[in-house]
Amino acid sequence: MVRRVEKSDDEWRASLTSEQFRVLRRAGTEAPFAGEYTDLEDEGVYACTGCGATLFSSATKFHSGCGWPSFYEPIEADAVTEETDTTLGMTRTEVRCATCDGHLGHVFPDGPPPTGLRYCINSVSLQFDPAEE
Ligand code: FE
Repeated sequence: MVRRVEKSDDEWRASLTSEQFRVLRRAGTEAPFAGEYTDLEDEGVYACTGCGATLFSSATKFHSGCGWPSFYEPIEADAVTEETDTTLGMTRTEVRCATCDGHLGHVFPDGPPPTGLRYCINSVSLQFDPAEE
């Protein structure tokens, strides 16, 4: 069962930077090629900036060229939720943290095997935790 984290906007503002709040709680998008994890190749896991839930593994990260960290699947199927997003005149699938409902990014059907999916995720929504040597 997925644990739930719920906070008011004021509580989120107190625990996040303004950029983290804009992306996670207002479905914002960081500038492409600007995030700290876009090209990171280190081994480890990526946790939600909002609540600390583990979301993605470096084992599924790939270079998509899109300008944001890209993964072909979440670390567990129920770690994220996916919803149709029709903002900005496009139909996309939004990806959210299942634990705190924070906005992570979008998933597109143009990824590599084995899933064919590209989870295009904002770096500010993630906190990298390096694998121990
Ligand atoms: Fe979260």
